[in-house]
Amino acid sequence: MSECLFCGIIAGKLKGEIVYGDDSVVAFRDILPRAPVHILIVPRKHIATVMDMEPSDSALVGEIFRVAAKLAQDEGIAATGFRVVVNCGRDAGQSVFHLHYHLLGGRVMGWPPG
Ligand code: 5GP
Ligand code: ZN
Repeated sequence: MSECLFCGIIAGKLKGEIVYGDDSVVAFRDILPRAPVHILIVPRKHIATVMDMEPSDSALVGEIFRVAAKLAQDEGIAATGFRVVVNCGRDAGQSVFHLHYHLLGGRVMGWPPG
């Protein structure tokens, strides 16, 4: 998936401020932050959308939330609260087709999301 933006960041071929990495998950700061803390948590494996996940990918979701909790702690938003968001498909406004979880915090969030 050499044409995928996030695969390029994961591989170190494209610039990205990486804040976490392990065997299966990488996290980097969003280039256009929508909150004081806005980090994208992605699987190393190229999965286009939530709808493309396979049964063998299930453990990844748990790992991603473990990383979200660790980063929330590191970034100082664990106590005040944060949001973890996945956009899937056109109506949700997904713009990059490599599965990613937005970790957003550091300000009060509106509900419901727009
Ligand atoms: P989506 O709209 O697909 O849920 O989220 C894609 C996110 O990727 C957006 O928040 C956007 O700002 C971010 N993004 C797009 N291009 C780049 C890039 O080149 N580097 C980084 N770090 N983030 C990007
Ligand atoms: Zn990819």
